[in-house]
Formats: sequence, C-alpha cells, structure tokens
Amino acid sequence: MVFYRTYRPQKISELDSADLRERLYSIFTKNFDTAHAYLFSGPKGLGKTSAARIVAKVINCEKHEKLKKAKLTEAEIEPDNKCWQCTSITSGTNFDVLEIDGASNRGIDEIRDLKEKINLLPGKAARKVYIIDEVHMLTSEAFNALLKTLEEPPAHAVFILCTTELHKVPQTIVSRCFRVDFKKATDEEIERSLLRIIKGESIKIEKQAISAIAKISDGSFRDAAKILEELSLTSGKKTITQDYVSEKFNTLGIELAIEQFINSLNTKDTKKGFEVVSKLAKQGIDFKFFIENLLEKFHLMLLGKLGVGPTLEDKFEISEIKTILELLAKAHSETKYAVLPQLPLELMIVEWSERAQSLEFRVQNSQGNQVAAGRLPSAGKLDSFYNDFINEVKVHNHLIAGVLRSCEIEQTNGSMQIIAISKFHKEKLEESKTFKILQDVAEALVGKKVKLDIILRPS
Ligand SMILES: [Zn+2]
Repeated sequence: MVFYRTYRPQKISELDSADLRERLYSIFTKNFDTAHAYLFSGPKGLGKTSAARIVAKVINCEKHEKLKKAKLTEAEIEPDNKCWQCTSITSGTNFDVLEIDGASNRGIDEIRDLKEKINLLPGKAARKVYIIDEVHMLTSEAFNALLKTLEEPPAHAVFILCTTELHKVPQTIVSRCFRVDFKKATDEEIERSLLRIIKGESIKIEKQAISAIAKISDGSFRDAAKILEELSLTSGKKTITQDYVSEKFNTLGIELAIEQFINSLNTKDTKKGFEVVSKLAKQGIDFKFFIENLLEKFHLMLLGKLGVGPTLEDKFEISEIKTILELLAKAHSETKYAVLPQLPLELMIVEWSERAQSLEFRVQNSQGNQVAAGRLPSAGKLDSFYNDFINEVKVHNHLIAGVLRSCEIEQTNGSMQIIAISKFHKEKLEESKTFKILQDVAEALVGKKVKLDIILRPS
C-alpha cells in the first residue's frame, strides 16, 4: 500500500475522477464559505478519505486568508500545499482537522467528545474540520448526537462524512449535507492515477501493461496501485510487459478476488459476490482451493477477534465470522460433487445474505422509521420464546441475561416490549450496545425485523 499512500492526490486537480473534480470545483466556487457538511458516498478504494483531506486543505489553506473574496476561481480554490495548515493536514498532525472512524468502538465516545468540544474555537485554522469515516457504522446514539450538532453547527465547524453504504445513513443526516457521490473509476481514470506513480517511481512499463492493470483492478484506484506495486516489486529492474501482467495475474488475481469476495460478504452485496465468482469460473479456477483460502482468512480473523492471534481488519462481528466459517465449510465439502464447480460458493453467498438480513441491526428502527411487523410469537408461546431469547442473549453477555430474567415480556401491535422492574434495569438494557444485542437476537429468533421497546413496569 506504499504507492497508494505516497501518491495520494494532494489537490483537486490531482483527483483522478473527472466527475469528482467537477463536483468539488462547482461546490467551492459557489459556496466557498457557506457549507457546513459534506457527505461522500461510494464503494471502497475510490479515495474518499484522500478527497476529504483535500477539502480540509481547501477550507483552511492560509492563502485564502489573504484573498478575502467571496467568490473564488478554480485555481484560487486549490490548496498551495506549502503553508503550515496544508502540510500539517497532509502529515496528519493538524489538531483542527480530526478524523473519526465510525466503525471503531471509540466512535460513540468521540462523537460525545465532539459534541462537548464543538463550540470551542479552532486553535490555528480558520475552521475545525471533522472527517467521519464509515459514518453508517455509528450507533443510533452517536447518530442522534451528530444530528443535533448538524442542526445547529457553529460557524467554525465543517463536517465531512464518508460512507460506503449510503442507504444506512439516516435521511435526516443526508438531507443536511452536500452530497458527493463517488463512482467506480473508468479505465482511463485508473490509467491516469497509475501514470502518476509510474512517473514518480520511474517504473519501466509497456503502455498495454498499464491498460491491463486498469482492467484487472475493476474501477478501484486502491487495487490498481496495489497491483502496480506488486508487479514492480517482482519484476526487478525489467520492463513490465503485458505478458508479464497476465502471467502474474493468475496468482495476483486470486489475492484480489479473495479481497473482493470478502468485501462483498461484508457489504452483503450479493451481486458483487456473484461477479467475483463468475470471473473466477471463466478463468477456470479451482474453487476448492479458493474456498480453502477464504476459510484460512476467516479463521485468522476469528483468532484475532478472540485475542489469540494478531488483530486483523475489524469488519465482522464474531457471530458473523462464525456463520461465514460454517457456510464456507459446507460449500467446501460440497465442491467435490458439484455439477457446476461454482455452485456451492454461489449458494453460500445467497444463504449468507439471507441470514445477514435477518441479523442485521437496522439503524433506521431506532430513528423512528416505520418497521414492518415480524411474525411475533403467539401469546401461548411467549414464555418459551422469552426463555430462548434469554438463552441466546446469554451467549453474548451473561450479565444482560441476568437482568432479563428479572423482566417480563409482552407484545402489542407488532412491537415487542421488555418490561423492566426498575429504572436502573431499563437504562441498562437501553445502552446502545446492549440494545443492539437484544434487537439482533430478537430479529434472529423471529426471522424478521422487530420493533423492540424497553418500558418501565408501572408501580
Ligand atoms: Zn496552504
């Protein structure tokens, strides 16, 4: 990933997507000082974070203080990349530009912290810039805090929210942002990004080889940079030819396919998963080998999660990894007798997406949007249902299970109510992490979305 990081675009004109350049120029020539929130959405590897840092520089570059104009030209908007603001943003040491990872457990604390400190003026910069990555992963509590801040942002604050899953971001937040959609890169745009690296590193490479890399990387700048880096490492000082790319691609292709496949499981993108499988089928790949590679990856992820091995990318919950491992093991054993070699893996994708849908926590629920009523258990079966429910929760957290034993369950109008005997218990169950577990388990047991409420028993 050295190439990708070293050759990140540093100003708008260096961004490789023509669409994106146009959009940013248009926003900033018209609204240089007015916008308080931007929402960057699109698939991984398209440079959303790089673009967010560029926007932070556009806003804070010291040259703008001298210009003092309401309307700026495209050239005037560009950061100079020389002043203290620009260079410290590039090196990640600017304390007025904060990057928050919505996917990390610290997300909620950071948002709470943000809410408290937002009114403090920036230290040295014109504006405080908050870049929130993977914003769709925030808990509903953090979303609410963020929404309150977005409703009345202080003049000195700007938010850049990034997401790979726009549909999971509440509409109330989307509607308050300038939206910038990142589209899959064209082959020409990928080639442009590769040329910057090729020039910078003085890599010897055939023109056709560059096109070949662009095709393999499937619209992702990050993948393209990674492939070029790998090829330049293995080719030594020789010129990278088109033949060399296709020769290496067989092994390189599998690595990439594994990554793309895992991403498709992570985003529950069934179509993308099928695309990867179909590409592999055309290459005549050994699916048993491919599945074994996947099993190994997820096994390592599991060990990492349990603290037995190194922590890997934190994309999946333990329960998800467990389900995926089971489904992969099943696909693996079926591969031997499959009429179509890719079929077991395709069925695995379908089954995963079905299970994931019933397990997935829907942020929208707690946002008060309408929730379709699931098949709630009939009154007579409610007790045994509650027992199953508690036992399942116990797997995740035995303390919560203990609290639940002191509660009662009821259902009305398609909603499930857990009746707590004390305010303390009610608050305990309503903590965002706990509530997520309760909701996930209830939905998994019912098999559909469930509206869940915690209420206090009338005294
Ligand atoms: Zn500057």
